[in-house]
Amino acid sequence: MRKLKKSFLEPTYIEMEVKWPIDKKEFLIQHLTEDRSYQDISDDYSIPRPQLSQWWEDGLELRAEIKRANQLFNNRKGTDEFIGFEKLGKRNFYEWFKNQPKNCAYCGIEESKLQELFNADTPTLKTKRGRGKVLELERRDTDSNEYSPKNCVLACYICNNHKSDLISETDHLKYFAPAIKEYLDTKHSKINDNR
Ligand SMILES: [Zn+2]
Repeated sequence: MRKLKKSFLEPTYIEMEVKWPIDKKEFLIQHLTEDRSYQDISDDYSIPRPQLSQWWEDGLELRAEIKRANQLFNNRKGTDEFIGFEKLGKRNFYEWFKNQPKNCAYCGIEESKLQELFNADTPTLKTKRGRGKVLELERRDTDSNEYSPKNCVLACYICNNHKSDLISETDHLKYFAPAIKEYLDTKHSKINDNR
C-alpha cells in the first residue's frame, strides 16, 4: 500500500492509468474500415501517435479479423447484388461479420476444424483454388441474388459449393447438411488420431 504523504506542500505523484477518449479497438476499426489516417485520429482525439503504433502492434488478432471482413467486402463491392451491404458501409459490414457465429450455418462445423482440415502444410482436404480453410459468405435464398445482412450467413466451402443455386436452404439442411457434418467430423477426428 502506498503511504500518504504527510505534507500537503510536497508534490505528490498519483499514478493513474491514462484513459484515452478512444481505445485500441475503435482505433483499429476507424483506421482499417473508415480509412482514417494515424494523423487524423491523433489530431481528433489528442492522442500521441506512439500510442497508436502500440495499439497497432498489440492488435494483431483484431487486425486479422477486420482484414478478413474487408476482404469479403472488397471482393464484392461495386456489384449489383452486394448493394445491400455496400450501403451499410465497410464498418457495419465488419460489425455484422464479427457477430456471426464462427461455424457453418448449415452443417455447424467449426471454423477452427476447417482450418485444421484444410491447413496448407498438412492438408487432409484441399481444393485447387485454396478454398475451404475459412467460412464463406453465403446467400441463403437461392432465388435472391442479394448479399445483405438478412440474406447472408457464413457457411463452409462444402455446404456453399453444394447448395449452389440448385438446392433450397430447407432441403440442404434436411438432406445434406447432416451428412456433410459427419464427413467433416470423421475426417477431423482422423487428424487427431494421427497425432
Ligand atoms: Zn457446412
